[in-house]
Formats: sequence, structure tokens, C-alpha cells
Amino acid sequence: MLAGPAVMRLRTAAAQQLSGDHVFFERAAAGTPHIGKVLAAIQAHSDDIPLSASGTVAKLVKEGYTGYLVRATNDDMGDLPGLGTPGSIGENVLGNERDNDEVARVLGLKRVFNLNYNNHRMGDVSLNELICRLIFLIRLLKVDTVVCWDPWAHDEENPDHYMIARGVEAACWMAGREHDYPEQFAAGLKPHEVRDKYYFARRPEITRVVDISSVVDQKVEANRANRAKGPGGHHGSQLRTELAKRNQRLPLLGDDDATADRSYIKEFLLEGDRELGRKHGVEYAEAFHYVGPGASGAAGPSTEEYIRQHAVPLK
Ligand SMILES: [Zn+2]
Repeated sequence: MLAGPAVMRLRTAAAQQLSGDHVFFERAAAGTPHIGKVLAAIQAHSDDIPLSASGTVAKLVKEGYTGYLVRATNDDMGDLPGLGTPGSIGENVLGNERDNDEVARVLGLKRVFNLNYNNHRMGDVSLNELICRLIFLIRLLKVDTVVCWDPWAHDEENPDHYMIARGVEAACWMAGREHDYPEQFAAGLKPHEVRDKYYFARRPEITRVVDISSVVDQKVEANRANRAKGPGGHHGSQLRTELAKRNQRLPLLGDDDATADRSYIKEFLLEGDRELGRKHGVEYAEAFHYVGPGASGAAGPSTEEYIRQHAVPLK
């Protein structure tokens, strides 16, 4: 039987979880507090970051981070009927390569790295190869913070999403260790551990909500760049054209194609961001399972403090 105070502690913890008290709300920072730090936005496909985390990536870059975009697959499978642009496997590869470069440009990211695994086929790529490639990039770019899929999230069906996420989680920790892939040090790299992680997911375990209201137009542009796949791209202007053939129009879609694309994305794709923002008293927000510094638990035993308190002279 549990003692009274222990039961109360358990109940309190459960109540805090249920009421959402454990969620940290990240506001827009003044100035550029992150200057000198490096961010890696890591995605399986060209539309992952745009849909789930491009507001946060744009916010962190605006606040001083130097950012890079890493894409694990070549997106050769395209997308569902009705999403993106229909095309052959080869056309999907080229279209998404161009779109991904444009996503990086509109988010202010410095460079793109494409790992070029086949789309939907990452289930049996060598996890150790993936980890090694990511460790190399973390050490080369001196990455402090990553934004990626959550390796442990529920309801994820796409193997590319959870495989890149598992590779990232392991690499973030191993990159800081001197006995993992030491031959990289002979090429001039140094151990470099990633400090914190913003994980996004279809059904996130939300521990952090980020206010993206001030950069929402960049999120719209990142999704407008995804023409070959995804629900953004040119769907707004296509809808406007279809309606005109039926002698109809939606005032929402405006008078030109670019306005139609932007308004469509803001109204329909960012509906969830708007709803989350409303709950927190801002216009738009994104949700993350955030993992802070020291999560790998490598602090070690508290021997030094014990010695300080208890050591006595030998004689
Ligand atoms: Zn994806």
C-alpha cells in the first residue's frame, strides 16, 4: 500500500500531464540570441519540414542560427493521387530535388545535403551506415540543435520517417564520443554532441509549443515551394482555375495565381497551427516533443560531490 504523500505525488503528476502544465511555450525572442549556433533541419521527404516544422525552423534562423537542410530520400515515389504533381519516378526525383532547394532558400538555410535513399525503402537501410553519415554531418557542421521526426511517436506508418529519426537520435549522442568513428578525426573533424532536439510527429507527445506567428509567411512559402509533392504547391491556383471553368470563384483565392496558392495554404494547410495558436493566445503555433541538453543521462555517478563532503586526512 502506498503512503499518503506518495499517492498525492502520483495524482499531482497525472493531473499536471492531463492539464498540459508540462508544456513549455516558446515565444519569439528579441534580436538574435542564437547567433553562432547551428541548426540541422532533417527530413525524410521534401514536404516533411515544410508541413510540420518550417515555422520553427524559420523562427530559429531569424533568431540567429545558421541552418542546414538534410533530406534522406530522393522522393522518387511522388505522392498520393490529388497531392503534388503527377509524374514518372524520374520526374518525381527531379521535381522534388528542385523543390527541396527552394524550401531551403525560403527558410534561409545555408546549404542542402541529400542522402539519396529510395523513397519508402528505408526500412532495411543499414542503420549503422545512416548513423555514420549523420555523425559525419553533425561533426562537419558543428550542429547544436536538430529538428526532425520523432523516432518514438505513435501512428507513424512511413518507414522513412521513423528510420531517419532513429538514425538522428543515435547520431546526436554518438557524434560527441571520441571512440566512435575516430578515423573522422584524422580528416580534421572533432567530437561534437548535439545539445537539443525538436521532434515533430503525426500524434506528438507535446512538451513544447512554438509561437510561429511572426514567420508564418515563410511557412506558407515553404509549402508553396512543394509543387512535386504535398498538399501545398499550386493547389490554390488549380482550384481557382477549376472553379472559373464552372463560372464560380472563391473570394479567398483572390485575383491571381500566387495569391490563390498562398491563401489556400494559409486557410487549409495551417488550420491545425491556427487552432494550436488559439489555445495559447497567439495566431499560429507548432507542436514538438522537445528533448533538452543532457537527455542521454551521461552525467555519471556523483563521486566528486561525495568526496568533497566526506574525505578525511589519511593520517
Ligand atoms: Zn514524409
